[in-house]
Amino acid sequence: MRFDLSNPLLGLSELNTQIWDSHVHIWSADAFNPLLKIGKKYGVHRFMGIAAPDVKKTLEDNGHGEIINFAYYLPIDAFAKHEPERILKAIDEAHSKEYSMVKMWFGPRFLDFFEADKPFSLDHPIFDPTFALIEEYKLPMDIHVADPDVWYDTKYHDVKRYRSKEQAMNEFRRVLENHEFLKLISIHFNSFPENLEQVKKDLDNFPNLYVDTASTKWMIRELGKNIEKTQQFFEQYYTRILFATDLSVGWEDRDEKYLATRYWAQRIFWESKCRNIELPFPDDDNPNPPTYINGLNLSKQILDHFYWKNAEKFFETNGSL
Ligand SMILES: [Zn+2]
Repeated sequence: MRFDLSNPLLGLSELNTQIWDSHVHIWSADAFNPLLKIGKKYGVHRFMGIAAPDVKKTLEDNGHGEIINFAYYLPIDAFAKHEPERILKAIDEAHSKEYSMVKMWFGPRFLDFFEADKPFSLDHPIFDPTFALIEEYKLPMDIHVADPDVWYDTKYHDVKRYRSKEQAMNEFRRVLENHEFLKLISIHFNSFPENLEQVKKDLDNFPNLYVDTASTKWMIRELGKNIEKTQQFFEQYYTRILFATDLSVGWEDRDEKYLATRYWAQRIFWESKCRNIELPFPDDDNPNPPTYINGLNLSKQILDHFYWKNAEKFFETNGSL
């Protein structure tokens, strides 16, 4: 079996729940319509969209406010340059413009985007007031803490500058220890689909922590390595995992195939029993390509929560648990 745009649901059974995509980037309001159109084909009816205030306003004016919860992207350059005042101002804006959450992104290469000349750590005292304000406003947080293990082997050799993955995760844990009321989604399976034992520990230690399945290729490559272990993880933690893709529209030209392949690949992965289906787009991070999809065949009860109920609970409770 292979992905086929003319038969977009190939290999999929009828789905008895709707899907909430808890992580997409909407860079322009016009670009949302193709995402909605393809999403609906795959059963996706609601989104958490990361969007600037003007894009959010246009989407709301166009009547899409009911199906999108918005995240405000905090200025990562202000983290790189140690300018907490700008971050605090942005959090105020997110609060006053009724965003559902704030987004933070700390893939180690962010330091290079802004030629940061100060050492970064997430738990640096200079950033503490920003987490305190997010906590005070009861604004949920969406955070990218670290990158795939393979990138630390291939790209981030300067450990002093980029920090090890373990160091980045420990900084993150200290922030959560210091701000116990923060409610958050640690995206990309808590940055650690490579190490489910560690994800379990974090979920056990931090009751307000959720994870998402953004980045289709990273999830399918790593979570697909040990099907039984991943199935067991889902059986145990399915109320803490949110379906997400990280699709990005309106930044560069994206066609229907880009959108459809991600939804198709994830649904085949979560729902089917298929084995060795070739991922329908390249995975540059796999040292032994191609990446294959091996379906997890998750139960209806798990899918109901993972596809919809967890997001509904997360986004519809106004910041409280
Ligand atoms: Zn993202």
